[in-house]
Amino acid sequence: MSGWPRQFGFSQPALERLLDERIGRAYADRVTVHRNLTVVAATGHPDKVVLETRPTGEIDGEPRHIAARYVVGCDGAGSFVRDAMGASLVDLGFVADWLVVDVQPRDPSQWSADVIQVCDPQGPTTMVPGGPGRRRFEFMMLEGEHKDEQNNPQAAWARLERWGWTPANAILERHAVYTFRAAVADRWRRERLMIAGDAAHLTPPFAAQGLCAGLRDVIALAWRLDAVLRGEAEATLLDSYGPERQAHATALIEFAVMLGKIICVLDPAKAEERDQQLRNDTGRGEQKWPAPRLGRSPLVREDDPGAGWLGVQGRVQLGERTARLDDLIGSGFVLIGHGHDPSNALTAGQRRFLAGIGATAIGIGGACAARDVDGTYARWFEQLGTTAVLVRPDFYVFGSGAAPVLVSDLMAAWKRDASAFTAEAA
Ligand SMILES: Cc1cc2nc3c(=O)[nH]c(=O)nc-3n(C[C@H](O)[C@H](O)[C@H](O)COP(=O)(O)OP(=O)(O)OC[C@H]3O[C@@H](n4cnc5c(N)ncnc54)[C@H](O)[C@@H]3O)c2cc1C
Repeated sequence: MSGWPRQFGFSQPALERLLDERIGRAYADRVTVHRNLTVVAATGHPDKVVLETRPTGEIDGEPRHIAARYVVGCDGAGSFVRDAMGASLVDLGFVADWLVVDVQPRDPSQWSADVIQVCDPQGPTTMVPGGPGRRRFEFMMLEGEHKDEQNNPQAAWARLERWGWTPANAILERHAVYTFRAAVADRWRRERLMIAGDAAHLTPPFAAQGLCAGLRDVIALAWRLDAVLRGEAEATLLDSYGPERQAHATALIEFAVMLGKIICVLDPAKAEERDQQLRNDTGRGEQKWPAPRLGRSPLVREDDPGAGWLGVQGRVQLGERTARLDDLIGSGFVLIGHGHDPSNALTAGQRRFLAGIGATAIGIGGACAARDVDGTYARWFEQLGTTAVLVRPDFYVFGSGAAPVLVSDLMAAWKRDASAFTAEAA
């Protein structure tokens, strides 16, 4: 619905290397990277937070202090920042140890992109592509199997042999035992501290949504922090981050737990029942992949059935160029009018507000300069039953309706205190 494939397969270290290189090359003037420092304390002040760091692994090492207006803790499952905020993880009811093994076929032509879930009560197993040239195997550990005995090459090869992989035809790249868990933090922001990624939510990987949820967190935070740091919005704008993202992440974790409960059945009788149920369900249509709505917040227009959902994106022709809309007009808030330029109906004050927050107004379809190449927007507007939609920089819909009403509602929401929503979500 966003104009891209729903899933991409890649190796996470390759993505992280790429991000690292980009930051070093393209943003070296704006981003300073400090490596091998562990944050050990965070002290709040009225205008900043001061982090105390030590060299990683040297608790008595020379302390260094780093001051920041805001701190986003993307510090993983054991998050220090989460603790410093006084937040806790709410358990969502799933725990299991799995041995995860990555192999590279020696003959690249033997690589496949197949995704296979073996629901064998004697050993639930997942087989997925781990990016080009790499296959990932995940083996559930059964009662009586211990992490220390399983996390070694011999144990990995013993399990791989059943699936036709041996040292003769594959290279064992890595093996690790992970405890798959389901949990979400009860609050995501306190004053100048925030959390994102695994610090805020943990999911079993059955829906492949852990990192995806983390990326959604940071894009949801980035435009808010940008507006606050530029002085375009009060710090209260940040209050809406947690309630929106917590509800969304929780829905996807619950979906992964549901898949896990289907996959991880170890009782043979229950497995037989499950298999029968799956056979009965075959042909009843595809299982729908969830695309949850954001949680309630001032930045999701109230009583608007179109608000809080992921926006639709299609190909647009503008002058000589045909491309996805965001490639043509860039990122930021977008006010889209169907078959009319929505800015014509706005007051000067509304236009000034949109300019201040870096929003773009565009008409698509009909007599507008921007052509709806595949009819994507016509279908979307028909479904929404409105003439305009206001999409946020994180691609979620603020609201749908008449353009002047949408903008005046956003102007009011921009200043609204979201603490009531935060308390509700917690
Ligand atoms: C087997 C498996 C399969 C998965 N498959 C998928 C998938 O298919 N799709 C998907 O989207 N996700 C998947 N995930 C989830 C994904 O890997 C995680 O969600 C993601 O790595 C979380 O990133 P993060 O940056 O939030 O946390 P982490 O990757 O945990 O990074 C946290 C970082 O913070 C650092 N840190 C911690 N404490 C401190 C401190 N006090 N000071 C300084 N630094 C600190 C750590 O050293 C680390 O570098 C999978 C996970 C597993 C285990």
